[in-house]
Amino acid sequence: MNNCPHLYLFDVDGTLIRSGGAGRHSFTAAIREFSGKEIELTPKDLSGRTDLFIFSNALKKVGIDPTAQAIARVTEIYLKILRERVVSYPGEILPGISEALSAIETRGECYGVLTGNLREGAALKMGSIWNSFPFGVFGEISERREDLALKAPDLFFQETGKKTQGMTLIGDTPFDIEAAREAGAVAVAVTTGIYAAQELQNADKVYNSLLEFARDLLKGASNFSKI
Ligand SMILES: [Mg+2]
Repeated sequence: MNNCPHLYLFDVDGTLIRSGGAGRHSFTAAIREFSGKEIELTPKDLSGRTDLFIFSNALKKVGIDPTAQAIARVTEIYLKILRERVVSYPGEILPGISEALSAIETRGECYGVLTGNLREGAALKMGSIWNSFPFGVFGEISERREDLALKAPDLFFQETGKKTQGMTLIGDTPFDIEAAREAGAVAVAVTTGIYAAQELQNADKVYNSLLEFARDLLKGASNFSKI
């Protein structure tokens, strides 16, 4: 098949999984190890943000210039800590993933992940569901989530040889919605992260879980390619 009518890209944290604070713990520990300074990061400092944005901001907060070299070193420390952390604190896989993926397959459409996590960080946090996603756009690309969304169709074509006519981003924060808007994609929001439905009302559709999203996909009631 040389094309795919529609591509659904799922955010990771708060959408597919909850890492139980593994990311936050690893960020603060990495900054501590690198700079010797303590930093406080709230869930709102992290949700919907790319890893590169978080590193860069955290370094500025402790008075360090976020040079490429500094970010590369913090990244290395972060991934080392995250590797250890996920062994003792595996994340929670949210309901409805297999239902959503099989609904998309039934429709003859495609899927992957789009996340601000670095590729290895995403793999570590996703654990057993990592292999369910044949395609991914990861945080190495840019500090800006919008850039990830803008590049997604080209990356999908480069990796799979398939062209896609439309794209839906599924995420749990206003940043996912903004990224979808900038890339001309459909914005689907789920309330399984830290944001309530009211804060996600700019999305084209808001669901309480991926299970609800899957049901809607199967009903064919929502033609996502035409929103
Ligand atoms: Mg998220």
